[in-house]
Amino acid sequence: MHDATRIIRSTLSPVVPGTPLHSGPVFAAPYHTPGDPADALYSYARSHNPTWTDLERAIARMESGQLASGAKYRASALVFGSGIAACAAVFSAVLRPGDIVVAQSNAYYNVRLLLQQYFTQMGITLRLTPTLGEAEFGLLEGARLLWIETPSNPTMTVCDIAALSEAAHKAGALVAVDNTTCTPLGQRPLALGADFSVASDTKSMTGHSDLLLGHVAVRDLELKAQIEQWRTMTGGILGPMEAWLALRSIATLPLRLERSCHNAQRIAEFLSTRADVEAVLYPGLPTHPGYEIARRQMRFFGPVLGFILHSKAAAESFLKQAVLVTEATSFGGIATTAERRARWGGDTIAEGFIRMSAGCEDIDDLIADISQALDAVTGPLIKMEQE
Ligand SMILES: *Cc1c(COP(=O)(O)O)cnc(C)c1O
Repeated sequence: MHDATRIIRSTLSPVVPGTPLHSGPVFAAPYHTPGDPADALYSYARSHNPTWTDLERAIARMESGQLASGAKYRASALVFGSGIAACAAVFSAVLRPGDIVVAQSNAYYNVRLLLQQYFTQMGITLRLTPTLGEAEFGLLEGARLLWIETPSNPTMTVCDIAALSEAAHKAGALVAVDNTTCTPLGQRPLALGADFSVASDTKSMTGHSDLLLGHVAVRDLELKAQIEQWRTMTGGILGPMEAWLALRSIATLPLRLERSCHNAQRIAEFLSTRADVEAVLYPGLPTHPGYEIARRQMRFFGPVLGFILHSKAAAESFLKQAVLVTEATSFGGIATTAERRARWGGDTIAEGFIRMSAGCEDIDDLIADISQALDAVTGPLIKMEQE
């Protein structure tokens, strides 16, 4: 069965005559549990909720697949109240004092901060590296966990999940992939050998810029139990309404992702033709250093691209001029958004760097608007240079 069919079918409730196709959210704190609690499927809602179960089942089906060896596996998924809660659950369940974690220095800012400001103070050693390629295999020696983000935004750096997982496993480390940018429909880390597939489902997965949630998916049931225990004990959980909206949203993921990735590709190609754009970073461009790996491991190149205008003023003016590009952080929504990334600090990028998230609008409208906005920025600059 193809992904789009599988995902849509997985969001339907079981066939019970007279009940809705999609059952509603279940609001509960305690559930009826007379006598032995083992007799009840659900007892207390910090541990479990039927609406999460539906969502987790749908995500698990997306994360399931086949390893390079040909062995099929069935993934399990656990949902959290935010993407960062999902990331923190992996760190907390796996890392103990004395352990070493290896991560990219361009990993998601808050993930880096969490490792640097909290975990290192609890006796964990952090090995940060600008890139994760073959040259970095040596860093895995003695490590407990390798944290990979690919493509990592805002620079859209790509690394080879299969090769890194193999090297990390040889060194005795577990591998977690932050798969936020692609979603499990665009890239399946567990099939490429990773132990954890983690994502902020706030982004493309749910895609409507109105929910905050995340998930951790695993192949191994022992790891699942550890993550689940952490969630129950610390309570970083998702409300049933959010879980229900998320389930509703992921049914359109195949449609949204196909359209937004197609739009991102067309915008990247268009920007590459402009003399006033200094660089375009998108893994779907053959000129991108990660293109060959991306083609092998991703089924969609993602909705996010970066491009560089020549100054802070040029980038700010572009964002002001563009009517169909909403200025906002985050990415993966149905509306095209962008921001001048350096306004936040924390990433080593040019002042004129714009991170854009392609939405699901008509591509001709988007390109016409981006084109007029660039013209409006560059027109006066060219005139100024001539004067
Ligand atoms: C947004 C994001 C997160 C954090 O997710 P929240 O849902 O905002 O908590 C983690 N990793 C990546 C790559 C992200 O883009």
